[in-house]
Amino acid sequence: MTAKWIFGCTILVGLNVRAQECGWKGEPLVEVHLENDMMVPAIILNQAKGIASGMFSSIGIRVEWKEGVPRPAAQPAACEARANEVLAVEFDEEVDVRFTGDAFGYAVPGEPGAAIHIFYRRVAASMPYMTAVLLGHVMAHEITHMLEGVARHSEEGVMKAHWTSQDYNQMAMHPLPFEEEDVEMVRTSLGL
Ligand SMILES: [Zn+2]
Repeated sequence: MTAKWIFGCTILVGLNVRAQECGWKGEPLVEVHLENDMMVPAIILNQAKGIASGMFSSIGIRVEWKEGVPRPAAQPAACEARANEVLAVEFDEEVDVRFTGDAFGYAVPGEPGAAIHIFYRRVAASMPYMTAVLLGHVMAHEITHMLEGVARHSEEGVMKAHWTSQDYNQMAMHPLPFEEEDVEMVRTSLGL
C-alpha cells in the first residue's frame, strides 16, 4: 500500500527571524490546536497525540495539545509568547477536491485559520486496525511540514512522501524516525 502526500506550497515567512530574535530559552514548545468536532473518537485521538508527542520528544521538542480554534490572543506575539509556534489542525469530513489521490492530509503554511487539514475518514479506512498509529504519523508529518515551511520530503522516515507496506509494518512496531535533515530543519525553525 502506498500513500501519496501533497503539500501546499505557500512558504511560511518570518518563523526563523522571530524565534531567533526573541532568544527562546529552555525546552522548545509547539502548541497544536485540534478542531475535532467529535469526528475522531477520543480514544483514537489520545493515542495518536501520544504517538506524535513521542516522535517530537525524540528530537527534543515538546508538543502541547489544545482543543478548538486558537484565539488570536493565543497566537505568539513577539517575545511574550510561551510557545515557539502555534498551529491548528482541522479534521475534514470530506476529502478536498484538490486531493483526488490517496493523500491523508495537507499543510498550508501561512494560511489563516487551520493550516493543517487531515482526512480522518480516509486514514481510518486505510488502517482500521492501527488507525491511531497512522493518525499519529500523519499529524507528525503535517506538523513537520509547517515547522519546516518548505515543500520537501525525505527519502526515509516520517517525512517520506510515500509510505510503503514496509513502513506501515515498522510504524506498527515503533514510530518512524525523523531523518537528520528534518531534525536540523525543525530545530532551526524553532531557533535552536
Ligand atoms: Zn508531506
